Amino acid sequence: MHHEQQLPLDLFGEPPIPTPPPAETPPHAQTPRTKQPLPPISAEALTRDAQRRLKELARTEARIATLIPRIRVIWYHRLQNSAGRAHFQDSRIELNPRLATLSDPSEIERTLLHELAHLLSWHRSITKADGTPLSRPRKIDAHGPEWRQACTDLGIPNEPRCHTLELAPRRKVKPKYAFICPHCKEHLLRVRPLARHSACAPCCKRHNKGKFDARYEFVPIPLQDALHTLALRENGM
Ligand SMILES: [Zn+2]
Ligand SMILES: [Zn+2]
Repeated sequence: MHHEQQLPLDLFGEPPIPTPPPAETPPHAQTPRTKQPLPPISAEALTRDAQRRLKELARTEARIATLIPRIRVIWYHRLQNSAGRAHFQDSRIELNPRLATLSDPSEIERTLLHELAHLLSWHRSITKADGTPLSRPRKIDAHGPEWRQACTDLGIPNEPRCHTLELAPRRKVKPKYAFICPHCKEHLLRVRPLARHSACAPCCKRHNKGKFDARYEFVPIPLQDALHTLALRENGM
């Protein structure tokens, strides 16, 4: 039988991973989490850059004026492989600090404009020409014609829809600990040791109404053995 290598992540006895709050401060005001180089352009400068672009458009399109003061750009460490992300509700643009490691520095600007085009097309879809909100916002596709028009307006007419850049892959964290469920023989690889009395969630769910049961408590095993078994399973053996 072929086992999925996907391991149960919801363990009992483990505190839930807290949802990261949005980064409120630019990265250079925070303790860097990794040894990434600091972005060469500050988030404030990028915010001003985005606002300057919109001001030019606002000269012929009144409704853009209400968007300008709301725009905020931040460098956001927790983005995985997307170069950037736009949040419509608070007009926030998050940029991946790893953009700064790319050989072509214009990628930062391009990503900024890509995300700004999302905010611009969204803003146009929810406001009347004078900037007041539409009672019924128009539905638009994320990368549909409205977004493409916004890209053209912002000077990047040939922007591709996909904004996952070829960023250098994140260093894969190697597991240091291995555990096995004595019941279903599911393996668990971990970078850090398990909290005491962590049990196999699927087994507790299946056999004990989802409550902790010592019979399904993970047992530590040698890492090499676990890696070997998982490699065999992956190959269908
Ligand atoms: Zn996009
Ligand atoms: Zn189990």
